[in-house]
This record gives sequence, C-alpha cells and structure tokens, in this order.
Amino acid sequence: MKLILLGAPGAGKGTQAEKIVNKYNIPAISTGNILRAAVKDGTEMGLKAKSYMDAGQLVPDEILIGIIKDRLKEKDCENGFILDGFPRTIPQAQALEDMGVSIDKVLDIEVADEAITKRMSGRRVCSKCANSYHIEYKKPAKDGICDACGGELIQRKDDAPETVQKRLVEYHQMTEPLKDFYEKLGKLVIVEGQEEVADTTALVFAALED
Ligand code: ADP
Ligand code: ZN
Repeated sequence: MKLILLGAPGAGKGTQAEKIVNKYNIPAISTGNILRAAVKDGTEMGLKAKSYMDAGQLVPDEILIGIIKDRLKEKDCENGFILDGFPRTIPQAQALEDMGVSIDKVLDIEVADEAITKRMSGRRVCSKCANSYHIEYKKPAKDGICDACGGELIQRKDDAPETVQKRLVEYHQMTEPLKDFYEKLGKLVIVEGQEEVADTTALVFAALED
C-alpha cells in the first residue's frame, strides 16, 4: 500500500502515520524528520534547509524531490510506504507522478486552524529520537522524558506561535491545492480530525479498508 498523508502542520499526520506503520508494517517516511536529522548532523542539505525551517517556510522543491527519490529506492519501500509531509507543493506532487510512483490513497486529515494553533503550543518532541508528544493529549509516562529512548523532550523552534501562523499560511497557499490535484486523480479521501487521537485513527483505518 502506497499512501500519502496530507493535512496542515499539526493536524496529526505523524501520529496517524505511526498507527498505520504498526498495523500495516510499511515504513513511514517523514520529510520533516529527515530534514531535522540532516540539520542536526550538519550536512550540506541540513545547512541549506535550516533557515527555511526555522522561519516556518517550505524548503525548496528540488531538495525534497531529491530526498524522496533516494528514500523510495530503499528496500523497505518495496511493499509500500506512507509519505508524511511529502508532497507539499504541486511541483513535488508532479515529480512523484513523473517518477512513476502509483499512489493508492491520499488521506487528508482536516483540522481547523484554531484547533491547530492550540495543539501546537503543547507539542513536544524528543531531542534524541524525534518521537512526538503533547503536554495534554499525548503525555509521556514521565514529564519531559521520552518513553521510547529516555531523551529530553523539547519544543521545536518552528512550533513557536508566530512561526505556526506562518506555516499555516504556507499550508493554505502551497499545500492545500494538492487536495484538488488528488481529487482529480480519484485518490483523495478526507478524514475529519477528532479531539481524541484514537477516534481519528478509527476513521483512518476505516478509510484504508474501504
Ligand atoms: P509539520 O509538523 O508541519 O507537519 P514537518 O515536521 O513535516 O512539520 O516539517 C517541518 C518543516 O520541514 C516544514 O515546516 C518545512 O520547512 C520542512 N519540510 C518538510 N517537508 C517538506 C516538503 N515536502 N516541502 C518543503 N518543505 C518541507
Ligand atoms: Zn526519544
């Protein structure tokens, strides 16, 4: 199964991707995580991406297309994958088509901007393994500590309220047109994001079985 998760920043794509990984045994490819790892490692790509990310802007298409081209060649993608955070622009979606990748479904998780702004302020991520938590909705067993690896939980720079607003504007301008793109290809499935993570997951699984 080859899936794309669409949705605004903070709509819960990463959280739902994890659930799909566990149920269907296919890898989730988070371009945000790949970019953050590159920034942390100080690679050339990371250096280029950092200023865009910190400012809440999209990283240039050619960098992302390069990342995805390489990643999809890896063996673990043979039986399918979930793209979390790619494509985010029409040229990225077009590049995926041009690569001949045949996507089965595009799940769009819809959450209103106000709810997103609230959620993002409580988001915390592990400084070591990038697992994501929320101070209200997805608490770690021990405050400030990652359940998976014991790493320290921190707030991402781009989760600061001002930057979140910029990311939402970028989302509406650059990414939302992808709904139309995939609707026309007959692949778009809309899932209304729910208060409770488990309720959204139930809708996601129902959409995948359909
Ligand atoms: P979100 O929480 O917004 O879903 P991600 O972790 O997916 O965030 O992405 C973080 C940042 O990485 C984005 O704000 C953007 O700067 C960059 N990024 C990730 N994926 C892409 C992409 N497909 N195209 C352009 N920039 C991207
Ligand atoms: Zn961790």
